[in-house]
Amino acid sequence: MFFPFRNHTYRFLDVHTHRPNPAEKTLAVKNIFAHELLNHKFDFKENQYYSIGLHPWHIQEADLKREMKILIDYALHPQVLAIGEAGLDRCINTDWRVQTNIFFKHAELAEAVNKPLIIHCVRAYPEMIALKKQIRPASGWILHGYQANANITEQLVKNDFILSFGEILLKPKAAIHTIFAHLPANTYFLETDATEQTIDRVFARAAELRNLNEDDLQKQVFNNFSKWFWAE
Ligand SMILES: [Zn+2]
Repeated sequence: MFFPFRNHTYRFLDVHTHRPNPAEKTLAVKNIFAHELLNHKFDFKENQYYSIGLHPWHIQEADLKREMKILIDYALHPQVLAIGEAGLDRCINTDWRVQTNIFFKHAELAEAVNKPLIIHCVRAYPEMIALKKQIRPASGWILHGYQANANITEQLVKNDFILSFGEILLKPKAAIHTIFAHLPANTYFLETDATEQTIDRVFARAAELRNLNEDDLQKQVFNNFSKWFWAE
């Protein structure tokens, strides 16, 4: 498939953000929640890009059918680059089977439209790996806000997950810095999520940690973008 950003002038890719507008020189994948689609509280702006999903924190049985339907309706929209964030969260009370079922539907939708899946995962990595083995998706599975330990990271990389890092890279002396520094080049993205951090700062810190100049880091990230967002 044609990669439409071949001659882009972007310097940064923010793979997951909740900011209303992208920062300068940034290709941002802004998250839109299913209930925002349903209530028309969103705005597809020209030259902006989105991901759409039902976050596990927002699962309400009463709205479920309508929300899943509207996600399907918008999934093929050319400005929707990814499905999600969707996922599994052990720290909320929502029934586990319901969470798993809804996540599964997002994974199926990502496969159907051939777009990557942006995943919110809290204390559910073994389950996530098991689900990936079961589904065997062709689409990329991107774990956003990533910060698990070295052992889990190794298993995730072995199972072709892509890890997205944000504010944690700017915190002092985090163990995840060493993990990030040694990841294979084709396994990561960078993001701002819902934090106050700016994507240029995340990129600068990421380059420092990986011992790359910023141009090379940007190339790496955009290579990953073309690979996972425009899979053949
Ligand atoms: Zn988020």
